[in-house]
Amino acid sequence: MNTTPSQARREQKPYVVIECPEKIPCDPCVDACAQGAISIPGSIIELPEVDYEKCTGCLLCIPKCPGLAIFVIDETPEDHSIIYIPYELLPRPKKGDKVLALDREGKEQCEVTIIKVIDSPKFDHCAVIGFSVPKNMVNDIRFIKLQ
Ligand code: SF4
Ligand code: SF4
Repeated sequence: MNTTPSQARREQKPYVVIECPEKIPCDPCVDACAQGAISIPGSIIELPEVDYEKCTGCLLCIPKCPGLAIFVIDETPEDHSIIYIPYELLPRPKKGDKVLALDREGKEQCEVTIIKVIDSPKFDHCAVIGFSVPKNMVNDIRFIKLQ
């Protein structure tokens, strides 16, 4: 069980990234994953762990986290990577929009292009937004701002 995937796994298929900020009694992410890839060992206040052998990168856990702490990263394209984030704000961005990518502190990093918007009623008002980023920025960018 790991909290970060190996380089080989990163190159193989999309993978989940959980950045749960603190130990709180919370576990919707565990039930959100039909693959059984997310677990919380021991007490419910412990941080979640990911079995990267089981994670398919399906995106379904992203909108289920009340803390907006779950992301999926796809490093399989040759010339860019894709980050999928939870997005609760309105209006939603649209496919093809150019938006500003922000780091974890909300600092602007670069302009990126929206490539996927999944806004299902099943997601309970939280959309999943995918955008392309330079390969060297997958660990830095976690939010977007519409222009
Ligand atoms: S991306 Fe899909 S398979 Fe991976 S942990 Fe989330 S729900 Fe499970
Ligand atoms: S649902 Fe989100 S905030 Fe709650 S334990 Fe899972 S990752 Fe952390």
